[in-house]
Amino acid sequence: MSNVHKLYEFDYSKGTIKLKNKRCPRCGKIMAYHKSPVPRWHCGGCGYTEFLEKK
Ligand SMILES: [Zn+2]
Repeated sequence: MSNVHKLYEFDYSKGTIKLKNKRCPRCGKIMAYHKSPVPRWHCGGCGYTEFLEKK
């Protein structure tokens, strides 16, 4: 087992990862990380989306 599960919560049904300390700047809800089609953070509460830059 990995310690990563203390900080992350993987939703197998949706294929998303919830980072427990990443919160929406708009409404304060916990945001979900989506890998595809582009890496981004998405808030299920207000719909706020934060795109990650590829390097
Ligand atoms: Zn929000």
